[in-house]
Amino acid sequence: MELTLKNTSMDNPTQVKKVKVLILGSGPAGLTAALYSARANLEPVVLTGMELGGQVSLTSTVENYPGFPDGVGGQELIDLFQKQAERFGAHIEYDTAIEVDFAQHPLKITSYNSVYLTDSLIIATGAQATHLDVPGETDFTGRGVSYCATCDGWFFKGKNVVVVGGGDSAIEESLFLTRYAKSITIIHRRDNLRAGIILQKRVYENPKIKFIWNSVVTEIIGENNVEKVRLLNLITEETSELVTDGIFIFIGHKPNTKIFENTLDLDERGYIKTEAQYETKINGIFVAGEAGDPVFRQVITSAGMGAAAAMKAIHFIQELDESLPVNII
Ligand code: NAP
Repeated sequence: MELTLKNTSMDNPTQVKKVKVLILGSGPAGLTAALYSARANLEPVVLTGMELGGQVSLTSTVENYPGFPDGVGGQELIDLFQKQAERFGAHIEYDTAIEVDFAQHPLKITSYNSVYLTDSLIIATGAQATHLDVPGETDFTGRGVSYCATCDGWFFKGKNVVVVGGGDSAIEESLFLTRYAKSITIIHRRDNLRAGIILQKRVYENPKIKFIWNSVVTEIIGENNVEKVRLLNLITEETSELVTDGIFIFIGHKPNTKIFENTLDLDERGYIKTEAQYETKINGIFVAGEAGDPVFRQVITSAGMGAAAAMKAIHFIQELDESLPVNII
């Protein structure tokens, strides 16, 4: 159902759309939620957010998603997810939610192009790796700059790489990279690691891994691919260059949950707190994928959460409207 209202703040007509299921985010969690709720004839609408497919669409090859024994391109996998959801009636909108109002039901979500009134909401807005924000980082993403050793480590077989960070992720991913890379140099801004003691023991014992302490990367340099990084020693203030084939950056993740900070409960890192089974404290709002998951962060786990959150939303809507058939998944 579509209505047109006068939006006095922007003096533009705004479309008001009434939907049963609105899904925010188009990564594996969002598109799987779309598939399940579409198969229940609920005609879900997916707002893609800024990046159709989220983090996985930036990954060259996904080798750990079951059903693809030879791996699958990240973008290709997202295309397949989208096609499958659309086949059952999901609507994909290239739009981003900018404001939410959960004070009434239906829930009100304002996007750049529309206002949605929805019976249920599935938040699958994902997370993004924290960036260094240094020159060269954006230019070389996918050409030597990576935020995922599991995804990209294989491409550095026999090569020399650097890892930035001193937390559990940096150390775990460095240990993973030893399967492929010839050498790994961890660059950390202090002189001791934040990572847990067991991981520290493993990393110090590994002959492939070296450290550069008290240092930060200030520039990533190359022609077509990464060739070297510029370093600054924070104690001596000396600068230097280090030749490398790639740079893996693990300085934390940030969930995309800012627009919910006044309405839902977030933990200290910004992840949405969920009750049992992906529910939030507000009836009809469910969370799937990395917006509420600081632990697993895999395509398969996010997709699974998307399916589960959609099943919860379907049951919620069935309770609102008893005329809908049961067992519709
Ligand atoms: P994290 O614990 O926040 O560590 C981030 C690391 O990056 C820190 O060493 C930090 O340095 C460094 N860093 C931050 N900003 C930087 C910058 N701008 N330039 C250079 N270095 C920077 O993040 P994480 O390792 O992703 O872990 C996130 C959470 O998940 C943690 O609670 C962690 O315990 C958990 N986790 C657990 C496991 C496991 O148990 N196996 C695995 C992965 C993650 P400082 O140390 O100086 O702050």
